[in-house]
This record gives sequence, structure tokens and C-alpha cells, in this order.
Amino acid sequence: MHAEGVAVSALADAVGTPFYCYSTETLTRHARVMREALAGLDSPMIVFAVKANPNVAVLRVLARAGLGADVVSVGEMRRALAAGIPPGLIVFSGVGKTDAELRAALEAGIFQINVEGEEELRRLSHSAQALGLVADIALRVNPDVDAGTLAKISTGKAENKFGIGLDRVMDLYAEAARLPGINPVGIAAHIGSQLFDLAPLETAYGKLGALVAALRAAGLSVSRVDLGGGLGIPYDPKLPLPPSPAEYGAMVQRATAGWGVQLMFEPGRLIAGNAGILVSRVVTMKRGATRTFVVLDAAMNDLIRPTLYGVYHDIRAVEPTGGRMVATVVGPVCETGDMFAEDRDMDAVETGDLVALMTAGAYGATMAGTYNSRPLLPEVLVDGDRFAVVRDRQTLEDLIGLDRVPDWLQGEL
Ligand SMILES: *Cc1c(COP(=O)(O)O)cnc(C)c1O
Repeated sequence: MHAEGVAVSALADAVGTPFYCYSTETLTRHARVMREALAGLDSPMIVFAVKANPNVAVLRVLARAGLGADVVSVGEMRRALAAGIPPGLIVFSGVGKTDAELRAALEAGIFQINVEGEEELRRLSHSAQALGLVADIALRVNPDVDAGTLAKISTGKAENKFGIGLDRVMDLYAEAARLPGINPVGIAAHIGSQLFDLAPLETAYGKLGALVAALRAAGLSVSRVDLGGGLGIPYDPKLPLPPSPAEYGAMVQRATAGWGVQLMFEPGRLIAGNAGILVSRVVTMKRGATRTFVVLDAAMNDLIRPTLYGVYHDIRAVEPTGGRMVATVVGPVCETGDMFAEDRDMDAVETGDLVALMTAGAYGATMAGTYNSRPLLPEVLVDGDRFAVVRDRQTLEDLIGLDRVPDWLQGEL
């Protein structure tokens, strides 16, 4: 198995396992495919959802490919700026922005803040006034559609915490237009992630279109609509493919015809997911009473998606022998839920072999933690036949060194 021109086994020799590996060429191609899919629209703006993969080197690759950044915290904003993404290409989303975060966004002069509620709108107005600045904002609408994806990653139903109910948007937009320090420029929506059906998106966009017309009829100006992210990607090679970016683009063109706005898009998974793998080594094989376990040196703390959502990641031998086996692939963490695959028909592997967990470039390293005192793992970026460690492996000194023993516990035991 190679990442571009570099053997994955050579990377493992150089950096040790486990580690994440990203491909510059795939990231760049995904950005290009998305841009081409939207080429029929009038100056679309594509902002990468940084939460999918916030590594600064990855963001820098995407910045070079012309993408902006959709951020959900001041930390992500700082990463986008550190990657050289201009403030004019940064959008701030998120359901719980603190005053400090709103001020930081105002001071950085970012393109747009997507406001999630009326209290946030008023807090932003206060902060903007205090700083003598004006914030371009979109109101995030909750279009109340079922995205047909996993419950934990559905965001556009009325009972979800995200966005402003359709019935309240008109009044709030009018209030925004009157508030000092606030310039409402449009509306935004994001109904969920890993969508395999365009119909709920088209329904949501239809509701946004009706809202744009209603706002304009009320004398309010609307110049941008942010259509969010959410397009699904293939994880399981046995399943049918999700809609292509081109099919999505054609649907958008149909659904938004005549709106007369700048459209914005916030893809995350689509750009980064299949540009990354998690490489791990088999620590030991264990024949249980009813099944064979492959115990990896990666665990749920490194890639939590299977544990958190019960979802599928393809697992392949880095140096396949052609043999197959049925096994349950687990990590060493002390949780039964620390399982990557259950009774999986997969490449035969043995102790010491390398495996790759595929489609790990989005919501992988960024969701990692240190449970069981396992250091955060390194990230490697490949570009042709060269590679670089773009995030160091956390050392045990770094991991433990943040703990403090108070005075009264020091001295003799
Ligand atoms: C998570 C998120 C995205 C990206 O979703 P993907 O499914 O990764 O494309 C876009 N916009 C907002 C507001 C988000 O929270």
C-alpha cells in the first residue's frame, strides 16, 4: 500500500505506529471536484468545515486549493488564520459562541458570523458596538427536515439544538437589520452529515428559497445563502455510492435558480475523509472462545467513530498476502466498545503486521483523546514522494506534565 509515491510501511518505519496519514493530491483533487461541481453557479464560495480536519498543514493545502474555512470555535479560527486563510474567507458557525469568541471573530474581521439565536444576536450587537465594528451575519435556520442520517449527526430537525425555527427567522432578521453593529446579509442551514440522499437537502433548500423571497418581500436585503455541508462519502466498499458532487451541484443549480445570491458551501467530510488513513500495527492475535481478535496498537481514543456511531471503516493489510480471515478488530483500551470491526471478513494479518483503517481523514485525529493515558498520535502529510510529520506524537512527558500535585499532597507518603 502506498500513499501517493510513499510506501505506507516506510512511513511506519519512520514515525512508528499508530499514525494518521493524509494525501496532498487527494485533498487537492477533492477541492477541485467540489469547485467543478459548483462551476455553473455565480461565484460560489467554498469554506472547508475545519472541525473535520483542523491540522494546520491540511488547512494550508486546502487554502492553496482556494478554499476558505468554516470554524466553530476560536481555536479553529486561530488554526485557519495560522494556515494563511484570509479572514475574508472565514465563516464562524456554532451553537454556543462565547462573548470572547464573538469579539475575537469581530477583531479578526472575518467574512461572516452565522448566528444561531436571538440572544447570541444581541450579544454580538453589544460586542460589535463596544469595538466600533459591524458584523456581517447570516441567521442559521433550522429548516425542520429529517436528513435521513444517523441521529447523532442530524442537525436540521426542529428538536435539534441548531438554528432558528423557520417561524421566527423573519422577525429576527428584521430585528438584526435594526440592531447597531449588525449587518444581516443572508441565511444559512446545515441539516446533518454523511447524507446519502439529496432529497432532504433539496427540501431544505426549497424552504430557504421561500424564506429569501419572503424576506425580500418584507423589504429586507438578502445577498448570501450558506447551504452548509453534509454530503456523504463511501466508507464501506460493498455499499452503493453516495450522490456525487456533480449530482449535488446539479441539484443546487435547480433548487436555487433565480435566487440572485452568492451561495456558500461548507463541505468537511467530502474533502478530507478519503484523503486520510489511520495506520496501526497488530500487537497480538487472540483466539477467544467464539471468535478471533486482532488487537491493534490504535484504539477508540485514536479513532472514535466506530465506538461513537457504530459505523464502518474498511480495514486493509498494508502488505496483503492475498489470504482472508474473519476476525474482530479491537484496540487495547479497557472498554468492550473499543472495537473497530466485528466478525469482519478481511485481509489475513498476523502479529506485527501493519493495517490501515481507511477513510479516516475526517473526524479522525481531531476527535482523538488520551483515554488510558495514550498519547495523541502523530499526523503525516504525503506529497508525491516526500512526506512530513505535520503533528508530532505527544510525549508521555507532555501528557503527564499538565497534572499538578498540590502543596498539601507533597512530601512523604
Ligand atoms: C460539521 C459541519 C459541517 C460539515 O459537515 P460535513 O458533513 O463534514 O460536510 C458544515 N457546516 C456546519 C455548520 C457544521 O457543523
